[in-house]
Amino acid sequence: MRIVVLGAGVVGVTTGYCLAGDGHEVTVLDRQPGPGRETSFSNAGLIAPGHVYAWASPRAPSILLKSLWRDDTALRFRLKPDPALWLWSLKFLANCTAERNRRNTLVKLRLALFSREELHRISAETGIDCGLAAQGALYIYRDKAHFETGFANSAMLREHGLTIEAADPDRCVELEPALAQARDKIAGGLYCPLDESGDCFQFTEELTQAAVAHGVAFSWDTRIDALHTERDRVTAVETSRGRFVADAFVLALGSYSPGVARTAGLSLPIYPVKGYSLTIPIDGHNGSPRIPGVDEAFLVGFARIGGRLRLTATADFAGYDTRHSPSDFAPMLRVARELFPDGGDYEHPSYWSCLRPMTPDGPPILGGTKLRNLWLNTGQGHMGWTMASGSARILTELIAGRPSPVALDGMTADRF
Ligand SMILES: Cc1cc2nc3c(=O)[nH]c(=O)nc-3n(C[C@H](O)[C@H](O)[C@H](O)COP(=O)(O)OP(=O)(O)OC[C@H]3O[C@@H](n4cnc5c(N)ncnc54)[C@H](O)[C@@H]3O)c2cc1C
Repeated sequence: MRIVVLGAGVVGVTTGYCLAGDGHEVTVLDRQPGPGRETSFSNAGLIAPGHVYAWASPRAPSILLKSLWRDDTALRFRLKPDPALWLWSLKFLANCTAERNRRNTLVKLRLALFSREELHRISAETGIDCGLAAQGALYIYRDKAHFETGFANSAMLREHGLTIEAADPDRCVELEPALAQARDKIAGGLYCPLDESGDCFQFTEELTQAAVAHGVAFSWDTRIDALHTERDRVTAVETSRGRFVADAFVLALGSYSPGVARTAGLSLPIYPVKGYSLTIPIDGHNGSPRIPGVDEAFLVGFARIGGRLRLTATADFAGYDTRHSPSDFAPMLRVARELFPDGGDYEHPSYWSCLRPMTPDGPPILGGTKLRNLWLNTGQGHMGWTMASGSARILTELIAGRPSPVALDGMTADRF
């Protein structure tokens, strides 16, 4: 089959690679001059089944409400005259019950665990070295009550086979000696030995080369404007480089998926949630963390990515605005200096911000649509690096008419 994949972030590139491996003639389109130049460029690098919790939870409404008048590091929610935000927020609030939080988290866990295996399989198959560091991840708490709630909450993952160790401050420092100077600020940590980290951008770039070797064609600097449909099929994609026709189409445009889906009469409840990312050169500093993790008090993620320390934070509901200024990063920089005083050259940070493609309930949107040859692989949200390889394999199986390797309930578009 001739298949066009729309989008060359980590999700689109992995999908193109898997489809070519299944014998299809694949073309991948992207507006950027190369792969992974948007959200997949500078994320925290965590591959984290141990951190798959759905954001919609019983605590979320009060956190959202407070953020309306507080300038928070973790969350910036603003009421704007944006119907897409209002609709998304209503669906998000409907998912804030304990029961739905648990169900959505477990759907994400199922996909994350499968995806981790697929990522390892693809890495072994291609020889890609994206610095996968399989040493576990440490989720740090600064407050005892918060730590206890975090551990209690992790029961839903532990009950499904995930090992999560409750670590006291000494054990945290034993696991991550770079935390030694911050020991007194730590109330405890949750250590997930299965979690890991790696460079998502490097993986996306190297997988693009592997895909080219498998015959995948990439069309860069190609802006996608619309899908053309006839009865129950997509016939072509309209782009700045003309029309691309194919037998099937996969939509993998991250936060920009809803706009293009709309041209084919589909409504996708994905909202862009901006995040900020800071990269610090380690440059001979000896106090950079060896294992990745999250400071749960400020929701700052950290990971060593090659010779750099990566920090990410903030869920900013700013629409499609990806602008940033140094003041957006000041709270993260403060957290990094506190936890890892000798973590890197804090005087020379690189700044970046990008948009998480968030669904209101948490899991991505995978599978077919009412248009027989249009497939969705989008909405991976805050976990697209963790979920990309599994999502790509699922799509490849479905397009071939084979059963999904994991149960799809809670992941398909008909749940909305
Ligand atoms: C701050 C931050 C930290 C994160 N940390 C982690 C983490 O630690 N672990 C994890 O698993 N996930 C993490 N994520 C999430 C992860 O980065 C995303 O889920 C993932 O990158 C989404 O990949 P994607 O391919 O769907 O989207 P993208 O990478 O955004 O790719 C979409 C592609 O579509 C292209 N495109 C869009 N519109 C058009 C158009 N009209 N025409 C042509 N091309 C178009 C873009 O150029 C882009 O290349 C983080 C995200 C953020 C923001």
